[in-house]
Amino acid sequence: MKFGGTSVRDAEAFARVGRIVATRRARHPIVVVSAMSRVTDTFVASAAAARALTDTPPQEIPASVRRIRKAHLDEAFARHREVAATLLSPSGRAEFDRTLLAAETEISDLLATFAVAADSMHGLLADTIVSHGERLSSALLAFVLRDTQGLPAVFLDARRCLVTDDNHGCAAPDFAQTSRRVESELVPLVEDGFIPVVGGFIGASLSGATTTLGRNGSDYSATIIGAAARASVVEIWTDTPGVLTADPRLVQQAKNVARLSYKEAADLARAGAKVLHPKTIAPLIEHGIPLHVRNSQAFEESGTVIFAGAAAPGAKSITLKRGLTSVQVTPALAGDDALFVELVCHATARHREDLDLCLISHAGALFVANDTAAASIAAEVEAGASVCVERHRALVTIIGERMNTDAAAHARLLRALEKAHVAAIVHGASTTGRSFVVEEAHAAEAVARLHRELFET
Ligand code: ADP
Ligand code: ASP
Ligand code: MG
Repeated sequence: MKFGGTSVRDAEAFARVGRIVATRRARHPIVVVSAMSRVTDTFVASAAAARALTDTPPQEIPASVRRIRKAHLDEAFARHREVAATLLSPSGRAEFDRTLLAAETEISDLLATFAVAADSMHGLLADTIVSHGERLSSALLAFVLRDTQGLPAVFLDARRCLVTDDNHGCAAPDFAQTSRRVESELVPLVEDGFIPVVGGFIGASLSGATTTLGRNGSDYSATIIGAAARASVVEIWTDTPGVLTADPRLVQQAKNVARLSYKEAADLARAGAKVLHPKTIAPLIEHGIPLHVRNSQAFEESGTVIFAGAAAPGAKSITLKRGLTSVQVTPALAGDDALFVELVCHATARHREDLDLCLISHAGALFVANDTAAASIAAEVEAGASVCVERHRALVTIIGERMNTDAAAHARLLRALEKAHVAAIVHGASTTGRSFVVEEAHAAEAVARLHRELFET
């Protein structure tokens, strides 16, 4: 059972999580929890502010650290304290207070260390600071489960289970080591009748350095741990009634999608739907573990089931990714076709992690990526081709297995996008979707219009 930041944003939300976990007691749950909402943002901001302390004279460091704490951290600590004061027994509160004080001291020390640390240490320092978001929320939730529901919950430091490489800020899990650790550290707790509560998003390298999996990474932690423990189901409890036909922040009329295949959900997450971290599905595949996305504020709603089999045909959801740049590459008229393809393949291979779209033919190529990666691809191919770079682009993707391909439906969708200045359409590359590159300024309207066409008529 994974609970996101909004599901533990205040005392009322923590209490709700307690009631939900209690309903699962007989099924031997493992609980994975994110930092309280906004806490990761402010901890990240504190580390960024501390980077500026490099070469600060020693006598000025304590005052600078106090300033950073006041600007970025004190409110977050106070929110934890308030939850503890509202929900915990006096002994629970005293115990959690000690955890909180230790965290405050360690974070202050880490902030001060930035002043003297080499640049190569900054990633480790930032990850260690940020990890306290999940370390605190998981410690607190274990106390809440015990004190409000009488559940046998125990805090387990995620860094003992989730083993990663040492790529700070965006670490990759070591699945084999993690499985071993989950078997030796976590599963025995479950077998002994305890409910382990683990922070999402954080891990540690084999040498013990604290790492993080990338923003929004708790979903990924949940499926990594769920797969390693051979869970019968992974539940992601969030602030929407499941996966919806569109982001409800963009389309008020968005409706729940009852079922999605792994492929549809993975493509949706990769295409930018924030409801799932892009890598969430991968760990589930080997053992065919279903993923259930549910609303922590409305327990009675059935949510979305994401499953291993083939999906029913048809459009399921529309998603939008903003802040992109497109790079159109045209070969020289007298150039060699094969060399052109080699040039663009080479340039894009180096940026494969950042590519949102990549179309290559002998007649030309089009890439869409974040601004930095796009600029660097453009610079690399410029010598052998002509290049047109356009910023402020967005990618609108419709997800759905074997979508209706009749010409009339296709024409209706294109008409819906009339004003969005469509720069490219990708249709047929994936069996589960089609994408449109549009101007960012028109993207939200494009999503709303497509939604009307596909789901409201
Ligand atoms: P959590 O804190 O639970 O991990 P997130 O904020 O990371 O929650 O993800 C949930 C948010 O994802 C929703 O509030 C919603 O705005 C956004 N979202 C984007 N696309 C979708 C979609 N297709 N269905 C549901 N939510 C979506
Ligand atoms: N707390 C982390 C973040 O805000 C991870 C997560 O919430 O999934 O990015
Ligand atoms: Mg999330």
